[in-house]
Amino acid sequence: MPLRRDTPLFPQGKTKAFTLSYDDGVVQDRHFIELLKKYGLQATFNLNSGRFDSEEHYSHIRVNHSRVSKSEVKELYGPFEVSGHTTSHPDLARIPMGAAAWEVCEDKKVLEDITGKLVSGFAYPFGTWNPETLKVLEAAGIRYARTVKSTHNFRLPENFLLWDPCCHHDDPQLMELADKFLALDPNSEKNVLPVFYVWGHTYEFDDHENWDRIESLFQKISGYEEIWYATNGQIEEYVSAVKALRYSSDASRIYNPTAITVWMKVLEQTAVIRPGETICLENYKGN
Ligand SMILES: [Zn+2]
Repeated sequence: MPLRRDTPLFPQGKTKAFTLSYDDGVVQDRHFIELLKKYGLQATFNLNSGRFDSEEHYSHIRVNHSRVSKSEVKELYGPFEVSGHTTSHPDLARIPMGAAAWEVCEDKKVLEDITGKLVSGFAYPFGTWNPETLKVLEAAGIRYARTVKSTHNFRLPENFLLWDPCCHHDDPQLMELADKFLALDPNSEKNVLPVFYVWGHTYEFDDHENWDRIESLFQKISGYEEIWYATNGQIEEYVSAVKALRYSSDASRIYNPTAITVWMKVLEQTAVIRPGETICLENYKGN
């Protein structure tokens, strides 16, 4: 008999996940959040805690790049995830390690004070990093960090500190990728815990006059029973729980040592492994 292959599922036995990541905390996030609520979607917002309330204009963009005010952060982003993006948005690959550590830790602390929640995620300003940056993030207790490199696939990262998104919302392949994602066969061994991950900045919708583009994506991707609409942090936390499962030597027992319920397809059935629980597969006859 071949070795049994268990297939992890997302919460409630869902087979796919869709997530969004938006940077800088600009005022256009307000309208974006209205759209998220309208379509029942989730997202992560990567904020620079030292730049709230600032009026910003740049020569390379035609529109306002002003930031939301500190006083509105808790309520505006409350139903979503707030994640770090450094205090002042430096190029982390070009500043001393100590300065990078301050930028990451101070930002995390201020965002935690404002939201009253733990901050576990991060997005690299300008998408840049070096080996020291990774050490800084680990030491700061950051669990995942997003780059700006498109994968054009739906695979989870090997290292969550280098989490490459599927694509930017202006990617010419956006809608094609959405169709591919919706058509994925969840029973294929190649498609274990597939995640469609889109990122960007919401001021870009004003700059490129294409709010209709993101709304078309939301219309297409929302409302599916089999898709988990999750924040980046929820996905990282859930996947870590899946990885933490412990098996008996003959694989007849699976123990969940975490505080998160894990769903798993085992022997063609959906097993639900609750926190602290060990399930026994009585019908399973060795390997
Ligand atoms: Zn940024």
